Amino acid sequence: MVSNLPSLDKLIHELSKLPGIGNKTAGRLAYHILKSPEHFAHELSEAVEQVKRNVRECSHCYSYTETEEQCMYCTDPKRSNDVLCVVEDPSDISRIESSGAFRGRYHVLHGALSPLDGVTPQDLKIDPLIQKIRESQTGDECITEVILALDADLEGDTTVLYLAKILGEMGVNTTRIAHGVPIGGDIDYIDFRTLGRAIENRVQL
Ligand SMILES: [Zn+2]
Repeated sequence: MVSNLPSLDKLIHELSKLPGIGNKTAGRLAYHILKSPEHFAHELSEAVEQVKRNVRECSHCYSYTETEEQCMYCTDPKRSNDVLCVVEDPSDISRIESSGAFRGRYHVLHGALSPLDGVTPQDLKIDPLIQKIRESQTGDECITEVILALDADLEGDTTVLYLAKILGEMGVNTTRIAHGVPIGGDIDYIDFRTLGRAIENRVQL
């Protein structure tokens, strides 16, 4: 969609970069913003700026945190330290939390291995994961199980194979959530009950 109004076209162009937003939807959203009261546009742009300014990665699990250096999952004393759930993205944590099936700690990789797209282990938070497990093995609160809650697609499978080998060599019990979901299933699209069952019925690697 082209409006031939340079400012509106720029907004359409920026919105169309969002996931799942094609040019047509971007046009609809941009016209909606244009027609909205001044304060709506102001609050929207302020919210976008604030989220970038205030939210940062947790220094321990690489999920997101706003006020503290470490996130609420890392600092919660009621969660168990011996089970670590590895996810691709911070948004996966909210899904797993809604399932209520997990009360351990998390680690976010920020993606999955994809040799074809040039995503290597160095591009993900794999080294800090290994370091975290190694440190736990020398301390009192040893991580005894790592649950890989990664997507059931090619990238997820590649990452599971890679991590299972390393973690196996480190003597860590490694499991993967059961995927009673279509192959290629992104855990974003699994309802929380299915996700809860997938965690309970996790498979040994
Ligand atoms: Zn954290």
